[in-house]
Amino acid sequence: MVKGSCFVGSRLLSEAKKMEISEVRVKLVANKDDRLKAFCSVTMDNEFVVRDIKVIEGTGGFFVAMPSRKMSDHCEKCGGKNHLRAKFCNNCGASLPENRARKDIKGRMKLHADIAHPINAECRRKIQEKVTAAFEEEVEKSKQPDYKPVEMDEPDDDIPEVIS
Ligand SMILES: [Zn+2]
Repeated sequence: MVKGSCFVGSRLLSEAKKMEISEVRVKLVANKDDRLKAFCSVTMDNEFVVRDIKVIEGTGGFFVAMPSRKMSDHCEKCGGKNHLRAKFCNNCGASLPENRARKDIKGRMKLHADIAHPINAECRRKIQEKVTAAFEEEVEKSKQPDYKPVEMDEPDDDIPEVIS
């Protein structure tokens, strides 16, 4: 490799623009008793969208949960796929061992895995702030008599475990 190209490469890297959140769309969840308050879709740099980000009411205020999927494992008898909390195999009905989920550092069962997530605290804070602000704005808008909710498909999965 030519020396000059290395220099240009590293210079470009140091000047690289940080990801910006260009749009947040918020669909409020009507059920007042539920901890799940909204589904959001977030657009990054006007060209990449992450959907199914959730706003959840925790004990210390609202927090933003990344889109996640339920983790599963396979039955030892038939190989059928089951959620980690299932007591019996969906496929053959065999009794499944308890506590199949791995535990996190605080000893809680790890039942969900993030599909998309920030890799540093700065980005996590940026998403948290933007999404929370958009959520609060949408709540204000929803108090208007002519309010029209955002059109958005809702995923049919469960609320993720609260991480607080
Ligand atoms: Zn089975």
